[in-house]
Amino acid sequence: MYRTNTCGELRMSDVGRSVTLAGWVHRVRKMGGVTFVELRDRYGITQLVFNEQDSPELFDQSNDLGREYVIQIEGIVAERYSKNEKIATGDIEITVSRLTLLNQSEIPPFTIEENTDGGDDLRMKYRYLDLRRKNVRENLELRHRVCMETRKYLDGQGFLEIETPILINSTPEGARDFVVPSRMNPGQFYALPQSPQLFKQLLMVAGMDRYFQIVKCFRDEDLRADRQPEFTQIDCEMSFVQQDDVIQMFEGMITHLFKEILNYDFQLPLRRMPWQEAMEKYGSDKPDLRFGMEFVELTATLRGTGTFQVFNDAAYIGAICAQGCGNYSRKQQNELVDFVKTPQIGAKGITFVKIEEDGTPKSTIDKFYSPEQLLQLKDKMQAVPGDMIMIMCGDDTMRTRKQLCELRLEMGSRLGLRDKSKFALLWITDFPMFEWSEEEQRLLAMHHPFTSPKPEDVALLDSHPEQVRANAYDMVCNGVEIGGGSVRIHDSILQNKIFSILGLTPDIVEKRFKYLVRAFKYGAPPHAGLAYGLDRLVSLFAGLDSIRDCIAFPKNNSGRDTMVDAPTVLEPEQLQELNLKVQLPQ
Ligand code: ASP
Repeated sequence: MYRTNTCGELRMSDVGRSVTLAGWVHRVRKMGGVTFVELRDRYGITQLVFNEQDSPELFDQSNDLGREYVIQIEGIVAERYSKNEKIATGDIEITVSRLTLLNQSEIPPFTIEENTDGGDDLRMKYRYLDLRRKNVRENLELRHRVCMETRKYLDGQGFLEIETPILINSTPEGARDFVVPSRMNPGQFYALPQSPQLFKQLLMVAGMDRYFQIVKCFRDEDLRADRQPEFTQIDCEMSFVQQDDVIQMFEGMITHLFKEILNYDFQLPLRRMPWQEAMEKYGSDKPDLRFGMEFVELTATLRGTGTFQVFNDAAYIGAICAQGCGNYSRKQQNELVDFVKTPQIGAKGITFVKIEEDGTPKSTIDKFYSPEQLLQLKDKMQAVPGDMIMIMCGDDTMRTRKQLCELRLEMGSRLGLRDKSKFALLWITDFPMFEWSEEEQRLLAMHHPFTSPKPEDVALLDSHPEQVRANAYDMVCNGVEIGGGSVRIHDSILQNKIFSILGLTPDIVEKRFKYLVRAFKYGAPPHAGLAYGLDRLVSLFAGLDSIRDCIAFPKNNSGRDTMVDAPTVLEPEQLQELNLKVQLPQ
């Protein structure tokens, strides 16, 4: 037996007991004739004492210990003189009577502490050492609990966890596929699933009724802090349900998770906001509702009513009212202007209107509008003395709203309104079915091609497809989309119509989705579902900035795993076996 206890469990009530512990040497402190060793394992840290007077031999042995050596000790639990309130075992220590070295360690390339000196690259290369750090380990513990609670809830609701294959053909989530060559089928490739979308729908045709899976998905996209080439979804599907049933079921799941993980309560039902409203008020389909600062549209108020050409030429004028920011200096204003002018945002500028202490609006547009008009503006914005109105305009309504959204979020951050311990959870509903792609010059499915239109909008499919709304819904928390799904089409005629609006010819459909089309001929039930991004959900619970921190072995921004060094070139023999020839661009 290696140990009687873990390094996190001994307390005052154990004083006098003889115990055996095993773990890593976290820290060695030599204080004259006494050496203190902090012994660490997953469960905590326990202090060991080696006293020269008690045993010179053991004392010498302890002085040879290096950081991260693996040891086993026997000893007696004793009360500590100077207690350490920061750790759970801080009242006791072990007077060691035997020390066995189980393994040595090279000096780790960074300190295994919460605040480590290791940079990102180094930590990722030695991720197994990084994972020994308490804060990183705790993220994985939290992730485990989220998975367990998810399973518990869904199992309780009669969902079956069913695995779907990883080697498949292309799935239609709109990103690029990762592909895998097939040795046994020369010249042919599998694709890795972007999601199990079609399989879960087939499971509904198969009569499984309620399915879920905590599953890896693969998308070959450009990476950001909240994206990884492989990520995990809590993927779900239900039969004989409508949108409301799905929403109800998963409000239940998410509030169960918040309660179990953070002891955080929500009032049900959650708020539902139509997509159109979200865009009008927040310029985003994932609005951060931890704070207000809703947009006020000023197009009718300011366009053509004065002599300011920039506003007169705009398609859209909108503003936010930043409370208490009326005293923003020229420098602070310029910072914000520079911020919205960055290429990622691409706005032209901001017009500031300050509300003076006596209530008069003061601005660089004073000369273009009458004082009455500016007072009207102030009223419209419900601005009070000390506030700053920030106006943006542009020749494309959607684009301008998105730019104003960035400004709103920036102001939210500056004013400390995006508190990580607060959660604003809501559904966004009634998404448009299609979005126009400039690049491809055709309509694309906003969600995916199997999403059903709202029955009342079906009549518009031929005449005004861009006005058709989908039975699709996203769950949003604190400005992050944490999940999304839709009611599916289960009627082949409607499905074919959608395919054709999307420009998917019968040929393409036959090639890519023939199995689904075939399956749907055999009695597909009405069904609907959704998927949560597990990595994002865990990051949200843990208050992390990057999903990477809650993934055991994540990839870096170039999609590389620097620990195992992947991706990598193949040996010539491997290429030959796969009938592949590599031709790099010049
Ligand atoms: N498959 C979708 C996704 O990965 C979710 C769904 O519609 O269930 O986003």
